[in-house]
Amino acid sequence: MSAQEVLEAHWDGDVPVRPIAIAQAMGIQVFKSTDLGCSGQISVLDGGEVELIFNDGEPLVRKRFTVAHEIGHFALGHLSESTRLFRDEVAAFSSKVRDPKEVQANRFAAQLLMPADALRLAIQQGGKTISQLAEMFRVSEVAMKFRLINLGMLRG
Ligand SMILES: [Zn+2]
Repeated sequence: MSAQEVLEAHWDGDVPVRPIAIAQAMGIQVFKSTDLGCSGQISVLDGGEVELIFNDGEPLVRKRFTVAHEIGHFALGHLSESTRLFRDEVAAFSSKVRDPKEVQANRFAAQLLMPADALRLAIQQGGKTISQLAEMFRVSEVAMKFRLINLGMLRG
């Protein structure tokens, strides 16, 4: 399932997108932890339930990106009988990460948190800096900048 498909099925259309609500709507059990030892993880339990845990000690925009990234592992079909757990350290969210699944999950997270149509509309309304757009979509400025470049709305 692509981020676009997830948005169409489970997003209420409001900005900022609420990734936890989307995860729950997809049937994922979401928990927060302060002693996780990483930013987030998603796993398939013995009973088949899917459980997402994020590090509640990290800044809000990081937590939102983490949850969206973990949803990506689920939606993109990365979880399987042989790979029942993804644990993500901060490095997994870096633009320097090379593992294709991590790259895909990061791309998914950006698409989920910054829906293309909502972002285009915000830009058409005009007068917003990258920092203000980041604030509006509740993502980091770096994430917003990458998204704008990828959408061809900003030159890198
Ligand atoms: Zn990951």
